[in-house]
Amino acid sequence: MASRRRTLLKVIVLGDSGVGKTSLMNQYVHKKFSQQYKATIGADFVTKELQIDDKLVTLQIWDTAGQERFQSLGVAFYRGADCCVLVYDVHARKSFDNLDNWHEEFLHQASPSDPSSFPFVILGNKVDVDGGNSRVISEKRAKEWCDSKGNIPYFETSAKEDYNVDDAFLCVAKLALQNDREQDVYFRNIQEPVLETEQRSGCAC
Ligand code: GDP
Ligand code: MG
Repeated sequence: MASRRRTLLKVIVLGDSGVGKTSLMNQYVHKKFSQQYKATIGADFVTKELQIDDKLVTLQIWDTAGQERFQSLGVAFYRGADCCVLVYDVHARKSFDNLDNWHEEFLHQASPSDPSSFPFVILGNKVDVDGGNSRVISEKRAKEWCDSKGNIPYFETSAKEDYNVDDAFLCVAKLALQNDREQDVYFRNIQEPVLETEQRSGCAC
């Protein structure tokens, strides 16, 4: 049966300064791109509504306000995240090397109930630059890193040319929804163990 309850999913976007986090979000939510570099100021999150199967979900996508340079994002930023998007720039080796640190930092700060299964998605951004000829991180190298971290989904994107942005965020939304459902079951089972387990036992979803 279609559920009419709207689900709010929190997604956070992390990665080095300048890799295109804000641009990707703007492209996804507002279908706009600006060449001008503006350190993100103020705005905590943007929202986007979408339908996944029979379910209406609201994605709440949290952007950093430039504090990523100091890795000093408050705990409220991480709290309750359902999926974490890590972005690097395929032309900036340092931003790729730092994925390890962002991955660890997220797990440390957000401390999800099961760190090994918490959903991440990696985006290799700015693939439009120089037709990809001057990139320093290959798709193969990036995928190896993703595989080594437990098969994290990987997308090559261009916020400028709106390449793969919708597909990447759809994957993010699906993983976030899945994570949200698992959390729901987990908490409901704690609160109403007998009733819920009985009711759910016939469901093979
Ligand atoms: P953030 O610091 O990670 O939020 O990065 P921004 O979104 O502010 O982007 C930094 C700079 O890179 C800006 O000048 C953007 O216009 C540019 N930029 C972002 N994404 C792309 C992209 O996909 N292609 C190109 N060519 N430039 C991009
Ligand atoms: Mg930004």
